[in-house]
Amino acid sequence: MTPPSDSIREAASYDVSPGVSSDTSGDAMALHPYWADARPHDATFDAHASLPQKCDVVIVGAGLTGVEAARVLADAGRDVLALDAGRPGGGASTRNGGQIGRNFKHAFGELCDTLGEATAIGYFGELRAAYDALAGLGAQAGDAIGWRKCSRVIGAMSDAHLVRLTREYVRRARLLGEEIDVLDRTRIADELGSPLYLGGVRVIENGAIHPGLYMEFMLQRAISAGARIVGHTPVTRMERTRDGFVVHTARSVIACRDVLIATNGYTGDALPWFKQRLAPINSYMIATEPLDDATWRDVLPQRRTYHDNRRRSHFMTFSPDGARLLFGGRTGSDPSMSRRTLAALADDLRFIFPKLADVRITHGWAGRCAGTRDLFPHVGVSPQGMHYALGYCFSGNAMGPYLARKAAARILDRPDEAQTLFDNASFPALPLLARNRWTMPALLNYYAWADRPKGLARAI
Ligand SMILES: Cc1cc2nc3c(=O)[nH]c(=O)nc-3n(C[C@H](O)[C@H](O)[C@H](O)COP(=O)(O)OP(=O)(O)OC[C@H]3O[C@@H](n4cnc5c(N)ncnc54)[C@H](O)[C@@H]3O)c2cc1C
Repeated sequence: MTPPSDSIREAASYDVSPGVSSDTSGDAMALHPYWADARPHDATFDAHASLPQKCDVVIVGAGLTGVEAARVLADAGRDVLALDAGRPGGGASTRNGGQIGRNFKHAFGELCDTLGEATAIGYFGELRAAYDALAGLGAQAGDAIGWRKCSRVIGAMSDAHLVRLTREYVRRARLLGEEIDVLDRTRIADELGSPLYLGGVRVIENGAIHPGLYMEFMLQRAISAGARIVGHTPVTRMERTRDGFVVHTARSVIACRDVLIATNGYTGDALPWFKQRLAPINSYMIATEPLDDATWRDVLPQRRTYHDNRRRSHFMTFSPDGARLLFGGRTGSDPSMSRRTLAALADDLRFIFPKLADVRITHGWAGRCAGTRDLFPHVGVSPQGMHYALGYCFSGNAMGPYLARKAAARILDRPDEAQTLFDNASFPALPLLARNRWTMPALLNYYAWADRPKGLARAI
């Protein structure tokens, strides 16, 4: 299929291998994730792999969540099959910013005020456990997953944002013991070579991975444990039977006792109950050509990970070889995934860092995440008896595998291991208005305008 010339939809959907560029001529950017260049060829997961007629567990979706659950279940001796509509790992898991922290959509202070300190500390304790598990893997696997233990700088572009940010992190330092450094106007200039930041906070303990290498590592680990992982096999519908499920795929049907849904932002019509609960939100990323040392010194001298605290923020990381800047944003702004949005993102980069005015962009892509009505991720069992782990609201690199292990423990009937605050009985459906494909972009574009730095005549 040839993508329409102004659309990157195919390059971001699971119909096309994200390793295949649809536009690499001359100076044009390649329309696939920079991270995908590090992944070996796809043949292992080809569409002709034979499918069993039955197995213990079918997992729908083979990103970080599905593959980690498959590993745990296979380790416990279950006959497990993870199916993906496209290339395993070709969804958000290899399209993201690679940042690893202890954050989700709710601020710690906000949860303290609404649910009480003890509950807030409970949630953030789980974020810590998810982070620690990935940091532990990073310490063992190192370069194999592109692990870097680098701190994160959160920049503020207005006085009001700086006050909010400082208040949040001082509270986190006091109640969670997080090590932080508050940066005033002079010190933020040593971190971010941009006139737009007024201050910020450095969170000392954070990390980064190379999403392509991390996904590949997780896949190989699951396969070594005995999991079967098959790509290019969309699940089209599911039927409940007396002793389990019949899973219909584009190629055959499979009977199994349990199913686990791990489709996150790519959840489609085959899973209507889940589709009503997950808002698919596109986000965009670009990679620069390798930058020389002088440019790094001018722009991001410390090479950490970065984002700002506006409601529609930009985020940045660097490639593990320290050469390229990976820049993301324009989240939710454009459901049609047009290439114009990548051009606008490149303009944002040059606007924020005037020193990058002439930088060449080599890669541009989009990925899809899932937002939930209550902004919490969810793990549990649906009224139809399907297990699920999804709804990460943009922080799934550590949380996806963490909740995958919780879901797998539940399937294995290990209630102690399965316990988590994210397994709350209620998983609210989205209101109809939120499901309209233009509502979220309208809202996020409004936020970008409302949160623009003072005096700017443009939203970024
Ligand atoms: C641009 C961007 C930046 C991000 N940055 C960060 C970050 O810095 N840090 C962080 O922690 N998180 C980040 N995230 C979020 C993170 O990438 C996701 O939360 C995580 O990858 C979710 O993994 P997953 O396995 O649940 O879903 P995915 O990796 O999206 O996998 C879902 C899979 O389900 C498959 N599927 C869907 N329907 C079917 C079907 N019917 N049959 C079979 N298969 C199906 C899809 O093909 C897909 O491969 C970012 C996301 C994006 C898009």
